Amino acid sequence: MWQSLLGRLRLRDINSGVYGGRWLDRPSGETIESLNPATGEVLARVLLGGENDYDVVAGNSLAAFAAWRKMPPPQRGEIVRLIGEQLRKHKDDLGMLVTLEAGKIRSEGLGEVQEMIDMCDFAVGLSRQLYGLTIASERPEHRLFEQWHPLGPVGVITAFNFPVAVWAWNAALALVCGDPVIWKPSQLTPLTAIAVQQLVNDILEPRGLAGVLNLCAADRDVGEQMAADGRLPLVSATGSTAMGKSVAKTVAERLGRSLLELGGNNGCIVTESADLDLALRAILFAAVGTAGQRCTTLRRLIVHESHAEQLVTRLTKAYQNITVGLPWEEGTLLGPLISESAVKQYTTAITTIKQQGGEVLCGGKQIDRAGYYVQPTIVRAKPAMEIIKHETFAPILYVLTYRELEEAIALHNGVPQGLSSAIFTDRFREAEQFLSPWGSDCGIANVNLGPSGAEIGGAFGGEKETGGGREAGSDAWKTYMRRQTCTLNFGKTLPLAQGVKFDVGV
Ligand code: NAD
Repeated sequence: MWQSLLGRLRLRDINSGVYGGRWLDRPSGETIESLNPATGEVLARVLLGGENDYDVVAGNSLAAFAAWRKMPPPQRGEIVRLIGEQLRKHKDDLGMLVTLEAGKIRSEGLGEVQEMIDMCDFAVGLSRQLYGLTIASERPEHRLFEQWHPLGPVGVITAFNFPVAVWAWNAALALVCGDPVIWKPSQLTPLTAIAVQQLVNDILEPRGLAGVLNLCAADRDVGEQMAADGRLPLVSATGSTAMGKSVAKTVAERLGRSLLELGGNNGCIVTESADLDLALRAILFAAVGTAGQRCTTLRRLIVHESHAEQLVTRLTKAYQNITVGLPWEEGTLLGPLISESAVKQYTTAITTIKQQGGEVLCGGKQIDRAGYYVQPTIVRAKPAMEIIKHETFAPILYVLTYRELEEAIALHNGVPQGLSSAIFTDRFREAEQFLSPWGSDCGIANVNLGPSGAEIGGAFGGEKETGGGREAGSDAWKTYMRRQTCTLNFGKTLPLAQGVKFDVGV
């Protein structure tokens, strides 16, 4: 089945993971296998880029910048519109490839491509709205205003779990802002990245724009190289907090700009007044969807003590009804984890949970079948357990209980991460308290919906160890541009600001 898919996406003609204006024939990195996590089968072998290949790509994108920044933004928007159309045309195949390589169920694979399309649509509109302010000048016959200019090539480092959407969040904005992109995808998902590059090349190459979007599928060492590269004024990095700390430090050393989208440890409070039917449905998707491998996955459920027993009973029952299967099969709700090592992290976490006094209420084991499957797990946890402060990238849900809302909010905020959050309540005051400055400390806060599954129209990102970055909608575009404050004197005198006098006879 997948051989013909690879053919349609023109992946069989190519095994290079490096594109810098053209596919590099023999990149110098190692050859890796792209695996189907649902079966362990090899989908393809990909030649990764090494240090020198990256250098070629970076040089090429810098050259492309010289012309790209001169193109008026609405014309750049037109190119992004065509890219969006191209993705629409290939949505089905690309979505299936996401399913095959990342293990996402079919609707999520398609949803991921839809997110790319949505980002392109958003960016097309944005290309006519890259506006600055005009500010009242204190000086007569002066005009004070700000404008936004392209920044330069943007390095985009992405994680395996959104193998193509995160690229689009960055690339669509960067393009209309006038910045070329160098993409370093996760070494676990190189095929989807190569497929996207092939698709966008169809739009860029015939228009003489090769090199505006570039790819360097490579190991983390090239990611480190990008962080240190002064040619990249902005490095946008999505992945673990450990990776973000390393990137942030290296980029800061050269006083560059970094945009960080790192690990989450998301909580949901279910209050006494909550609609439990609604909460139950939201919890199931947020905790089990994507096999617990979303940055916004629900990991900590904080339930009012009056509902704890009932909710846990209903949840554990619903967990038994979750269809585990091949992710491309109709009806499957739970696919595999990404790798053997992810399974190991899950089983290690279960051991630690037990050592720290957690009670496994359901799940807790690897599933005995081909591929990297684990049981979705619910744990009765205690606030003192150290492990609940860490993100284990697997479907493990900790259940904690509370009496007073203040206590729930303190529990909720008492972790190092700050990405997404939710509360279920039918009381206006509780909802407002959760959204107040002394409520949730996360970048995303939802009422009566789960923490997972954001729309692209809002700015996406989180606080604390999640890194503080914002991507996608709202005014996230500003990170991809440099602001210039301009003053224009249309008079015949030269008044100085703040009334300073400096009169020299001339
Ligand atoms: P990871 O940190 O292992 O790898 C992410 C990317 O960073 C890969 O391309 C990798 O090669 C690269 N990398 C690793 N170390 C690096 C370094 N020192 N310098 C430069 N690049 C380096 O993450 P992963 O396992 O692929 O993804 C899962 C993690 O990503 C989770 O923590 C998840 O929460 C997070 N994530 C966050 C968001 C968000 O928007 N906040 C979105 C998706 C995933």
